[in-house]
Amino acid sequence: MDSVINLIYLAASVLFILGIRGLTHPRTAVRGNLLGATGMLLAVVATLLDQEILGSGGQAFGLLLGGVVLGAAIGATLALRIELTAMPEMVALLNAFGGGASALVAGAVLVGATDPPAQTAVATVASGLIGSVTFWGSLVAFDKLRGLLLPDRPVLFPGQQALNGLLALAALGCGVMVVSEPGSIAFYAGLVGIASVLGILLTIPIGGADMPVAIALLNSYSGLAAASTGFVLNNNILIITGSLVGASGLILTRIMCKAMNRSLINVLVGAIAEASVSKSDADAIYAGRVKSTSAEEVAMLFDGARRAVIVPGYGLAVSQAQHQVRDLANLLESRGVEVEYAIHPVAGRMPGHMNVLLAEADVDYDKLKEMDAINPSFEQTDVSLVIGANDIVNPDARTDPGSPIAGMPILNVDQSRTVVVIKRSLSPGFAGIPNPLFAADNTLMFFGDGKQAVLDLIAAVKEAD
Ligand code: NDP
Repeated sequence: MDSVINLIYLAASVLFILGIRGLTHPRTAVRGNLLGATGMLLAVVATLLDQEILGSGGQAFGLLLGGVVLGAAIGATLALRIELTAMPEMVALLNAFGGGASALVAGAVLVGATDPPAQTAVATVASGLIGSVTFWGSLVAFDKLRGLLLPDRPVLFPGQQALNGLLALAALGCGVMVVSEPGSIAFYAGLVGIASVLGILLTIPIGGADMPVAIALLNSYSGLAAASTGFVLNNNILIITGSLVGASGLILTRIMCKAMNRSLINVLVGAIAEASVSKSDADAIYAGRVKSTSAEEVAMLFDGARRAVIVPGYGLAVSQAQHQVRDLANLLESRGVEVEYAIHPVAGRMPGHMNVLLAEADVDYDKLKEMDAINPSFEQTDVSLVIGANDIVNPDARTDPGSPIAGMPILNVDQSRTVVVIKRSLSPGFAGIPNPLFAADNTLMFFGDGKQAVLDLIAAVKEAD
């Protein structure tokens, strides 16, 4: 039986890996998701069949099945009801459940075991520590994104890092005691308690807008906690799945930090909140240089254009303009303009935010061009239409080494013949800094809400016939 179970686990693991591979491209993402879900179904069925887990037989099986049905019902309801923009919150909750479950299961094994071997005790400590940090850290992340109890901004207080260091030491001390006296559950309870406080304190300094990065990291933690619990239970699929989640979460965290040109430490201590810029800095850049435009004027620009690039940003998501943007692109194409979309890796507030929004509006994947692919073509672009994007097109990242976003790779829209920027005001974006693009000679500002501005543009382009 053991080898059959392990074979099923192996098949499930292969499906997980194929699933992750599928998720790397929008075209194969749905299939990837299905493969991953099938792998998970196999893993759950095999685990339910596993004699060791069934233990006393019928009653335990019934309980497990009940848990699976209840969990699946809650998961399906949440997944069906969740708004796309609330996806980071949903992932935060999933991470919390994963971390919490790992800590609980490892604790339960410790309570039930008589004289467990040292490696089991060490794995239990790892599960308890990482699982509890993940559980509470993820709940704080969820709360900050929802704006329920905690403020969105970084919560900082004097001595915060020192306190965190002390708590980490105390948690490790409890961990050592768990390993040397595994029979006493009090030390495990102490470890979980201290790690829980640590999870909260480690997450409160992270600003709401930085939360997606923190959530990717917490996702990685939840995988590590699960892998540790896999060692506690001697369960291969948990070890493999946990390691996959741990590694992929860490890779995603790295990709996001790199695309923002920020170190992970910088994100974790809430440093960007300090990078605010005085009003006079903005005035010095914008005064007398900003040219505003109208829908009619932009329609005339399109009239003479051969190539246009649409650059979506966070404001596109806020104004939910994706369907109107697609209509505008179709209209321009019907008039002979070549239209492409430029996708920055951290546009919006979560990885793949723009891809998901535009996919919702049925924009052809082939028209979505990643930053490295589209950047060389801006010089041959007649009109770049920036919709609700700011930091990802800020040329200061390239030219000002003192800028908080210095070195962040950006979309080089400033190299196109004309840049039209749709946004409501000259307010800064996520990084809180002015953008010289708005005052550039070849830039026209089209002030207004993203969706309304695009609707006005569509009307003006039709009118221009
Ligand atoms: P930004 O946050 O730089 O700018 C968004 C702009 O959208 C604002 O300046 C705002 O200007 C405008 N806006 C807001 N609402 C509307 C609306 N209804 N209609 C039109 N415009 C609107 O967004 P970007 O996408 O350019 O950059 C993303 C930023 O987020 C980067 O700094 C990135 O590092 C960061 N980030 C990204 C993450 C990710 O995973 N994608 C995760 C964490 C951070 P105004 O108020 O004047 O309208």
